Amino acid sequence: MNLILLGPPGAGKGTQAKRLEERYGIAQISTGDMLRAEVRSGSEIGLQAKGIMERGELMPDAIITAMLALRVSKPDCARGFILDGFPRTTPQAEALDIMLREKGLQLDHVIELKVDDSALVERIAGRFTCAKCGEGYHDSFKAPKVKGVCDVCGSTEFNRRADDKAETVAARLEAYHRQTAPLLPYYAAQGKLQGVDGMASMSEVAIQIEAILGVPD
Ligand code: ADP
Ligand code: ADP
Ligand code: ZN
Repeated sequence: MNLILLGPPGAGKGTQAKRLEERYGIAQISTGDMLRAEVRSGSEIGLQAKGIMERGELMPDAIITAMLALRVSKPDCARGFILDGFPRTTPQAEALDIMLREKGLQLDHVIELKVDDSALVERIAGRFTCAKCGEGYHDSFKAPKVKGVCDVCGSTEFNRRADDKAETVAARLEAYHRQTAPLLPYYAAQGKLQGVDGMASMSEVAIQIEAILGVPD
């Protein structure tokens, strides 16, 4: 099963993708995580990505599309994948359609997480992750059970993203509405788009998504 989680920054794509990865045995592909790994490694792409991400702009379509083509060919994608943060522009969506056709694959679902802009700002401002295992948290909505200690691995170190500050968030939301929102009619025209209420709690959103995807096989 191959699906796209579509929604603005902070909508809960990563949170839901991690749950789906476990429940359905398919791979989460986060282009944002891939780019952050490039930045950490100091690669050529990473150097370019650093400035673009800090300004809340999008990476060039050709670079992202090439990265994605390599990623979906990895063995962990054999049972399927969840695209989290890709596609973000119409050219990326068109390139994905071609890529999947060439590989004899298809998109099964495109799920839109609908969240109000005001809630997104709050979600992004409170977001942090475990520095060791990557578990995602939120100051108000998902704080670690013991303050300062990761529930999953016990680490006491956490990261906040450089681009999760207020100035950048406005630019990222603007990029979403201008460049990514046109994908909603694109996938609606293919008959693949289904929306869920992303304002609901994390577990309620998960239930809505599973109702669309059905029981894992
Ligand atoms: P995205 O991948 O779409 O940018 P995340 O999954 O990282 O979004 O979620 C952004 C922040 O909001 C995280 O701190 C996460 O814990 C929190 N969050 C995710 N889903 C919900 C929800 N349904 N209700 C409240 N907070 C949420
Ligand atoms: P969020 O879901 O919170 O917006 P991501 O982690 O998906 O954040 O992306 C972080 C940044 O990485 C984006 O603001 C953008 O600069 C870059 N990026 C990620 N995916 C793409 C993509 N498909 N196309 C262009 N840029 C991307
Ligand atoms: Zn951890």
